[in-house]
Amino acid sequence: MARLKEVPPQRELSDLADSSGLAISVIDRSGVETTALNNNSICRSLNPDGEFVGKCNAFCGKALDNALNAGREIGFTCHAGLDCRALAMSDNGKPVAVVVGRTFTRSENYRRAASFAATGEWSSMPVSAMFGNVLLTGSSVALEKTVEKLERLGREIEVEVQPAMTETIEIERFEPEIVDFAEVIEEDLEPVRALPKDETSDWRSLYSTILSQDYRTACEMLLDFAADHYGLGSAAILAVRKEKFVNVTARGQMAISGIRIGISPTDERIATAISDGDALVLSERRSKNGEGRTLTILPVAVATDATAAIATLDQFESDDRRRQLLRLVNTVAGRLEILRLRAELDGRESIERSVKKFDSELRNAEGDDLWQQLAANSAQLLQAERASLLLIDELSGKFRVAASVGMTAEGTAEQDPGRRVAHAIFERGKTALVPDALKAGLQDNVEERGYRTRSFISSPIVLGEKKIGVLSFTDKATSTAFNAKDLEMVEAIAPQIAVAIDREALRAKAGEFEQLSVTDALTGLLNRRYIEQRLDEEVKRSNRHGYPMSFLLLDVDHFKSYNDTYGHPAGDVALKMVADVIKDTLRGADVAARFGGEEFAILLPQTVDEEAAAIAERVRRNIEATEFPHREVTVSIGIASCSSELCSTTGLVDAADKALYDAKRLGRNGVRMFAQMEIERFE
Ligand code: GH3
Ligand code: MG
Ligand code: MG
Repeated sequence: MARLKEVPPQRELSDLADSSGLAISVIDRSGVETTALNNNSICRSLNPDGEFVGKCNAFCGKALDNALNAGREIGFTCHAGLDCRALAMSDNGKPVAVVVGRTFTRSENYRRAASFAATGEWSSMPVSAMFGNVLLTGSSVALEKTVEKLERLGREIEVEVQPAMTETIEIERFEPEIVDFAEVIEEDLEPVRALPKDETSDWRSLYSTILSQDYRTACEMLLDFAADHYGLGSAAILAVRKEKFVNVTARGQMAISGIRIGISPTDERIATAISDGDALVLSERRSKNGEGRTLTILPVAVATDATAAIATLDQFESDDRRRQLLRLVNTVAGRLEILRLRAELDGRESIERSVKKFDSELRNAEGDDLWQQLAANSAQLLQAERASLLLIDELSGKFRVAASVGMTAEGTAEQDPGRRVAHAIFERGKTALVPDALKAGLQDNVEERGYRTRSFISSPIVLGEKKIGVLSFTDKATSTAFNAKDLEMVEAIAPQIAVAIDREALRAKAGEFEQLSVTDALTGLLNRRYIEQRLDEEVKRSNRHGYPMSFLLLDVDHFKSYNDTYGHPAGDVALKMVADVIKDTLRGADVAARFGGEEFAILLPQTVDEEAAAIAERVRRNIEATEFPHREVTVSIGIASCSSELCSTTGLVDAADKALYDAKRLGRNGVRMFAQMEIERFE
């Protein structure tokens, strides 16, 4: 038996969850979550059915037993890094655990979760679902207070409790760390009460809507607020990225002139400012006329880490006002950080998706088509209206345009900024993002070139140790300059490009080998093995799609006597000449082969019999008209075409052979159609 408080009615629990911004869930003895209010999206993703399995089982799943064993409220940080408090309560006489929290109170746990999601054990789960509603609280004060309220709400009753059946996990108690700013704004608005009414209401509305914004918009809203109520006309929001402050958005003078902030987020002065709850004032290093401006940095921190900062060139009305703004902004630090993380993960996810798509689209491209697809697909990724791919010629050391997108004339490609900087990019071996070609010291006449922007990105293509080309992008479709994300995108696809090029090189090599075994050494035409294979394929295609197709057999007339009279080597020369005439007479898609001895075969895809007859006649005539070294050479040609009665490999070869025989019979130096023979025979 134990005395436990009754779980408050659902509506009261729900109010408590809403006002605290924490998750509250009720877990029954069988480990099923019967109520989950304001639940963290990470918990929803890891424990989708509310039945504690896997790693969650050791924490929320054991909360009831552990709380009963402890005989009091317990606290734990789960495998996901979320802080929780659990209380054994009664639900209509049955013991249940009420878990409060599921929030990150420490930034390192939160960062660890982010890296799990990005590259670690959660990377298979959709980031947007996982980080849809992450709870992040500056400290554990809110958890303690919520548990207290929960206990006050419930009536105490006597409950029959079975002894705990499972082992207990180590129980931790958390001591309050730092002041919870969310608490300050929600409950004790005392210090802020001195604020004008509209400022308080503006802040409240910003606070409550910020989570539904994207990161950038949220930052802009903060700057608007700082401008409206604190007179900060020149201010910027900086985010911490790779241990640096990077500009997110700026207004006024700070948007115009770009200010470099020579202080790292991990700088001791920032840490001191965070713990003092005050701003840091820096003075300009190189001031004109000795008149130095000052830059005030208000660090935005989650727990003790700077996650962002507001920087302003303006002066505050008073020290108090400065501290007030800092304090207000820090109440949304956690929310802002969630937005930033969401944006970062979304960005990474979209890059990953794009790279996959890019890769699969390139997989089937070959030869010149590969270059063009490479340029087109990467341009699409970067929303660049123009792109060029320059490949270096190893012998001359000059670049040639292998593919271009959005450049109509040759001349335009010549003026492509990528071409002008190609050598420099080669030397550097690194992708260059040029926001403004003019400012970068590259002569540029945007209008003359017909370009819309002066911004471009140029990236070297490196295969192992070898640099082979430069891929450049100009004219972003949005008419803005290329940005860091574009740069990241180019760097993400660079390895795919190298792999695609490598694959193409291998394919070309394989093609060469194949060429050797399918060509006839004397004439350079394809060999019999090859044309028989092709004939098989073409016959199948014709049968499947009903395409017309014709097959020709050609035999040199009285060639035995040519050999006998002028010698075998002279005969070889003549055969080579016949082959050359055939090659020159045929169209691109036609296939000619040496079928054996002085016989040749010709495959005419998509060609009806009449057309085939015309082509055969042209071949015959061209050979007849060619001046051979010793005497005139003529050929006889038999034609077979696919028809409803006849469309098989052996059938076509036989038919063409019969027609050829017929041409010989009719006096040589002529063309004979198999279909014609049939008609004559039955007439
Ligand atoms: P027709 O075409 O009218 O039937 O008379 P033909 O003299 O061409 O008759 P046949 O097909 O019997 O003779 C083919 C000759 O072609 C036999 C052979 O000497 C010659 N020949 C076959 N292959 C080669 C070759 O690779 N090089 C040379 N020089 N001659 C070849
Ligand atoms: Mg022959
Ligand atoms: Mg012959």
